[in-house]
Amino acid sequence: MNGIPATPSPINEPIFSYAPGSPERAELQAELARQADQVVDVPLIIGGEEIRTGNTFDVVMPHDHGHVIARAHMAGPDEVRRAIDAATGAHQEWSMMRWEDRVAVFLKVADLLAGPRRAKLNAATMLGQSKNAFQAEIDAACEIIDFFRFGAHFAETIYGKQPLSEPGVWNRAEYRALEGFVYAVSPFNFTAIGANLPGTPAMMGNVSVWKPSHAALLSNYYVMQLFDEAGLPPGVINFIPGDPVEVTKVVMSDPNFAGIHFTGSTAVFRSFWKTIGDNIGKYRSYPRIVGETGGKDFIAVHPSADAAPVKTAIVRGSFEYQGQKCSAASRAYIPESMWGELKGPLIEETASLSMGDVRDFSNFVNAVIDRKAFDKIKGYIEDAKASEDAEVIVGGDCDDSVGYFISPTIIVAKRPDYVTMCDEVFGPVMTLYVYPDDEWEETLKLVDATSEYALTGAIFAKDRRVIRHATDVLCQSAGNFYINDKPTGAVVGQQPFGGARGSGTNDKAGSMFNLMRWVSARSIKETFVSPTDYTYPFLGKD
Ligand code: NAD
Repeated sequence: MNGIPATPSPINEPIFSYAPGSPERAELQAELARQADQVVDVPLIIGGEEIRTGNTFDVVMPHDHGHVIARAHMAGPDEVRRAIDAATGAHQEWSMMRWEDRVAVFLKVADLLAGPRRAKLNAATMLGQSKNAFQAEIDAACEIIDFFRFGAHFAETIYGKQPLSEPGVWNRAEYRALEGFVYAVSPFNFTAIGANLPGTPAMMGNVSVWKPSHAALLSNYYVMQLFDEAGLPPGVINFIPGDPVEVTKVVMSDPNFAGIHFTGSTAVFRSFWKTIGDNIGKYRSYPRIVGETGGKDFIAVHPSADAAPVKTAIVRGSFEYQGQKCSAASRAYIPESMWGELKGPLIEETASLSMGDVRDFSNFVNAVIDRKAFDKIKGYIEDAKASEDAEVIVGGDCDDSVGYFISPTIIVAKRPDYVTMCDEVFGPVMTLYVYPDDEWEETLKLVDATSEYALTGAIFAKDRRVIRHATDVLCQSAGNFYINDKPTGAVVGQQPFGGARGSGTNDKAGSMFNLMRWVSARSIKETFVSPTDYTYPFLGKD
């Protein structure tokens, strides 16, 4: 008790290679075979108790949609209320627990994942969300580990931020948990976001009701098991898969609703904001609203750039994890003078990308997440094939006979406002616009104004003056801005992540700024010798 602890200095978790012959590859393959051979019963977890409602949802592999790997129980309104009660019931003890005990739980989660649980969570992410070994490793293992190791360090930094004190007075800042519970609503595309949305507020003393995505239930359930294994007290995080609209309705009409930690699409986040506004009179406090949402991420190429790095940035930035990263490159602006040199190799490389089941490690791309996504992406591709304003130059094949497979696709748009230059497609589809070299200035304006989002973006140029100028002109166009690199792959502690405009509140996941949203500071002033005379010297007579 009597000490001011320092958290272990964080470093980013090293990424395993999974190269042929490596021990991690053998372990992961054995775990994939084990998990593919079972159907896991996924309960709700409320107040530490497993609850089975019998109203179940089949979790399938997106790359083999006839293959069920889990059956998840869905919450109804009663379970949602129970989860809220369990969370608010756990609030007093958890929020008053010493901070080093709280962060120790999450440091233990990180160590479990770095060691004995790594293969299990990676395999569940691969099978359930159709990620290849490398994409699962950087998400489910490394990013969760980084979120919690860096998070512990940021928590210590925040608690250490203390005000000045004048003689005779001791001023202190106390960083209280929010009064109430935090509603965490996570997307399918990163297991790490599932862990972070309820986990980070909990580190800061909050309790939460977590509604995972129906398309990430197996991995998210294993995250919940990790919290338990690391010693998180019952009720601090309550796991309730369920109908999103119904769950949200109950949660957002509760007076103890203290904040939303969301990642997902822009339309859903806007609907939350509206509901919160409509209910504002019901709440004990003004809820914290934190949401990271959609993107229409760009690569803008200046004539002074080299073609080869642009090609790699497009291929990796657009097609890794089937373009289902909020940061995925999905529109590019190519100068006419480079197009001749870039086009052939870009088509050739894109066409060569291997696609298939995640269990075959030679596949670079896998399936898109579900039928809804498949139909939506296919619709954009079919429209492009039929449009006079666009040309599909590679890919465009959609086959859902076994899994939801869409081949990496490049569309050349003849107009800079063609629909796939503007909309978030959220699939393996890149749209290019070829601009006249002397219209770089106009192109920068297009980059800025074409979409409602401002999440990530990249510029490629050699000329330093061009780099400086584009960085300034695109100041508000992206919250994560890359120079001569692809716009994906942000790392906790290195490139804090988030964007503004339609892309979210830019509270920078994996940074101290995000943690600040989950505390409410109390300023304490203590006077050692309290005054006993009300008069001030100026009152004296001349
Ligand atoms: P989504 O919005 O469909 O779902 C996200 C979560 O919201 C899920 O838990 C879902 O069940 C819930 N939800 C859906 N509709 C709802 C409703 N009407 N009311 C209440 N809850 C609802 O998003 P997704 O398909 O899971 O994820 C993809 C989206 O997430 C993309 O738009 C992507 O850009 C975005 N994303 C953003 C970031 C970021 O950091 N900016 C990171 C990852 C994903």
